[in-house]
Amino acid sequence: MSVLSVEIPNRERLAALAQSYESEMVAFLRELVAIPAESGQEGPVVDRIRREMEKAGFDEVRVDPMGNILGRIGSGKTVIAMDAHTDAVGVGDPKEWAWDPHRGKVEDGSIYGRGTCDQRGAMASLICAGKLIRELGLGGDYTLWVVGSVQEEDCEGLCWQYILKEDGIGPDCVVITEPTKLGIYRGPHLGAGGIAPAGAGGDCDLPRPLGQGAAGGPVELQHQRRRHDGADGRADDRLWAGRRRVSA
Ligand SMILES: [Zn+2]
Repeated sequence: MSVLSVEIPNRERLAALAQSYESEMVAFLRELVAIPAESGQEGPVVDRIRREMEKAGFDEVRVDPMGNILGRIGSGKTVIAMDAHTDAVGVGDPKEWAWDPHRGKVEDGSIYGRGTCDQRGAMASLICAGKLIRELGLGGDYTLWVVGSVQEEDCEGLCWQYILKEDGIGPDCVVITEPTKLGIYRGPHLGAGGIAPAGAGGDCDLPRPLGQGAAGGPVELQHQRRRHDGADGRADDRLWAGRRRVSA
């Protein structure tokens, strides 16, 4: 990755202009929160994001066949992608909420509502950043892709696998905007791997075993898992203990 340096000649002006958009951004974020978008149903929220990117003066806005929205600022050498997933988990039983989670509320300087933090707030901020880059001429030898990915809540990583393989944006780095209070993101997304063993066996009957049944392999695997957990299944002081499960 090339070294990127961008001059910000007047930080006070940048801060003042950002501040001047506060009420506009709060209104936009609350509009996003008002659009339910569980995984696989992100179309309406993506449409709203597209309109805002176009209004902010992005150089290119497109929605790929999977439904991810990609907004580009600039066309320089270093390619940076910043991602905010567009889906949010459902609200469960609305009666459990003290207020309408899709209407949200603003209280003591904070915005409340389903998906505000995870991750519509990031999308509102990224689009505002694009607008500020445009208005203050903060372009440089970089390309910024603001990406609204889909289906993160159901199958995290799948959308980015698609974006990297199919969308051809070739990022040098990707910044995800999962909320961390500016900490290092170590959990609960620890990563996971799956192994799908295929078992083969012959005819087998409990009272009169004729051969090795197909279930023998998975049963042995479960025994192995228990032995392995006993050996190294300890918790790290920064991470949870690893977990292994055999499921059919
Ligand atoms: Zn998230």
